[in-house]
Parts: sequence; C-alpha cells; structure tokens
Amino acid sequence: MKILLPVLATGLAAVIGLPGQAQLILGEETAQISPHVQAILGFPNIGIVVGANAVLVVDTGLGPRNGATIAKVAARLAPNPKLYLTTTHFHPEHAAGEPGFPAGTTLIRNRAQQDDMDQHGAEILNTFSGRNEQMRELLANVKLRRPDEVFDKERRLDLGGGVTARLLWFGGAHTKGDELIFVEPDQTLISGDVVQNKVAPNIAADGGTPASWIAVLDQIERLGALHVLPDHSAPGDGSLVSEERRFISDLRTRALELKRQGVTAEDAGGRLTAEFKTKYAGWPINNLNNFVKSVYAE
Ligand SMILES: [Zn+2]
Ligand SMILES: [Zn+2]
Repeated sequence: MKILLPVLATGLAAVIGLPGQAQLILGEETAQISPHVQAILGFPNIGIVVGANAVLVVDTGLGPRNGATIAKVAARLAPNPKLYLTTTHFHPEHAAGEPGFPAGTTLIRNRAQQDDMDQHGAEILNTFSGRNEQMRELLANVKLRRPDEVFDKERRLDLGGGVTARLLWFGGAHTKGDELIFVEPDQTLISGDVVQNKVAPNIAADGGTPASWIAVLDQIERLGALHVLPDHSAPGDGSLVSEERRFISDLRTRALELKRQGVTAEDAGGRLTAEFKTKYAGWPINNLNNFVKSVYAE
C-alpha cells in the first residue's frame, strides 16, 4: 500500500518525493556514466570522477553512514590517496554526509552555497531530523565543518591523466548556491537539482527565481554536455538541458500571461498544473503551484 506523505513546508521533498526508508541508505554498486565518471544511483545520485592522481566525489548522501559508504567506493575505484569532495547544494542529502569521509579529504564548494549553508544549514538539518526516526538517526550529531576551499564562480580541478572537473556557480536556481560540475574531456555535467530528467522544477525556500534558473540554464547549454547525471532522476544525454529549459520557460511564460490577465496565483497554479500534465505527459507532475507562485513573485 502506498502512503502519501504530508506536504512539507520547505517544498524540498514535495517535489523530489521522499524515497522509502530503505532507500535512504546508499549501496556500493556503481553505474558508468562516461569514461571517467561513475555514479551510485540513490538518494541522491552520487557522482565519482576518477582521474589518474585524484578522485572527486560529488555529494555526500544523507548523513555520515552514507558518506562512509561513498568514500569506500571511491577508494575502490581509485586506490590512490587524494580525495576531493564537493556538494551541489546545502540540503542534507547532498551535504550532511561529509563527516563520514576520511580525514584529509579536501572539501570545496562555492561561496553562494556556503552562504546558504551558514544561513539555513542547521535549520534544514532540524527539519529533516524531525521527519522520521531513520532520518533522525542518520543525521544524529552531524557537525558541518568549514570547507577547505571556497570559490566564487569557477574552480578548475586537475585530477590527473587529462581529467579536469570544472566546479561552477552560474547563479541561483533550485537554491541560491547551486553548484554544477562539468567533467572534461567526457563532457559530463553533474547537474544537482538544476537539470533533472522529467522532474517538475522546485525552488527551495530562499532559493533562486524562475528567471534566474533560466539564465543558469542558458550558461549550462553553452557547455555542450553530452552526458548528464542529475541528483534525483535517471541519467541522460545533453538533451536534458534543453528539455529543462523548455519546461521552465514554457511554464514561466504561461504564468506571466495568466498574471497579466488578472488570474490569481492560486488559480493559475491549478490551471497550469492541469495544462502541463497534458502537455508534458511523460513528466510525473504533482502540482506546479509553488513554482507558479515564484513566477508571480518575480
Ligand atoms: Zn535540494
Ligand atoms: Zn536534492
């Protein structure tokens, strides 16, 4: 039997859908995304970029137990000492597993994300811990440490053997601090919650705006990604980027039209949810109310 979860105030889990309890625990199996990128598929998908001298892990899983699993897998894939860790944004399934990584791991993230973390990190850990017993256990005693390195817009990480990871901040989207990772020469984008595979977009509290999200996607399109590893949906090819852009700009355009016609945000949310369920039949859409509200508030 399926039990529907209550709507969550943060809006975060409302859109990604909370997985069942067992699925909060990451496994050790990996999938090959491109020649130098492996992934553990789960909540969330974890990217592991393997160079000749170093390995970069993208995202931590929910709490230290998951972080330790990822570190173990990384050591198996790349049995050499240098381990870098970065996170796509400050939400706990992406960042709160950091204490599970071994001492000597170099933690890097962009400044806007660290600002999000400083402002809302403790608060969202509390929210997640209050959801159920398993989350409380997984997040017990998590202490968030300062990153070893903070960058503004781009940090190029040379992993050796010709493999480079570009850590990028293009502006606010799902959160204000969303980081994107582009791996060369694979042309693989690790896209966080910014580019997904047919998932209705969700702006977290104090996140970006629909307009800034589109501006971010414009910059991503110029990277020319061939492979995309999203956080909460299936990996795909570069077309995920233009699909995401099409959905968001379509929804924004329609919401602005209804706003001009004097339709309330609430009514517009209902109408556009119905309209987009038909128009984007392959997308499992619950409701677009929050996103439409964000368009009205721009
Ligand atoms: Zn998130
Ligand atoms: Zn997420």
